[in-house]
Amino acid sequence: MIGIGLKMMNRIVEYLDYLFPNPKCELTYNTDYELLIAIVLSAQSTDKRVNSVTPTIFSKYKSLEELSKAKLSDLEDIIRPVGSFRKKSEYIRDIANILVNEYNGVVPQDRDVLTTFPGVGRKTANVFLAEYYNYPYIAVDTHVERVSKRLKLAYLSDNVLDIEKKLMKKFPKSIWAKLHLQMVLFGRYYCKAIKPECRDCKLKDICREKKKNLNWFFFLFMVFLVRDFLLDLLESQEDLPS
Ligand code: SF4
Repeated sequence: MIGIGLKMMNRIVEYLDYLFPNPKCELTYNTDYELLIAIVLSAQSTDKRVNSVTPTIFSKYKSLEELSKAKLSDLEDIIRPVGSFRKKSEYIRDIANILVNEYNGVVPQDRDVLTTFPGVGRKTANVFLAEYYNYPYIAVDTHVERVSKRLKLAYLSDNVLDIEKKLMKKFPKSIWAKLHLQMVLFGRYYCKAIKPECRDCKLKDICREKKKNLNWFFFLFMVFLVRDFLLDLLESQEDLPS
């Protein structure tokens, strides 16, 4: 049994609403296919890096047709900064091909169909459908996974699908799409993997990590205290008449 009840869940929702009242996806895009491609590129990368290459892609290839005929080596040169650029170049050219030839240039709204596309897994499909259509889906990326485990919304041993199911069970469907974005932003800017901002966090009392992080803070505090004490002692020794 995972140890938080309805009251705690409401507190999580309230705190995330307070921190991120209008959460926005940080990937830049103009059309459905631009968003899908940006999400595919963001795997194992950052939104910032993706945003640094997508304007070049979409200004060089002004339509899906053009993108579907792109030379792979040209795409690779543009995509290189996001990592896994060979695989990702193939993915996005193939996605463009499929959209042009089978879907009249429109990204399908069905998760089962989307996950048959190259480079598109359940998480990518969920992010796309929640962001573009505001459909009720929760995508569990590295931030959502970390936050869920720290806040005891999931077991440490849970995989991403377990976590997705648990979050859907615990929180009302009407907030899934928003909650997903809020958890991503909370994980990215507050509940970071390394050195999370625990001191001012209002969810400390629920969190699995807080003790560890506060102990670390206490340790640093003690190191500085001892250092100051030793410096004072040395100074007072120097002041003594010889
Ligand atoms: S106390 Fe720290 S680790 Fe826990 S939820 Fe808050 S920021 Fe994250």
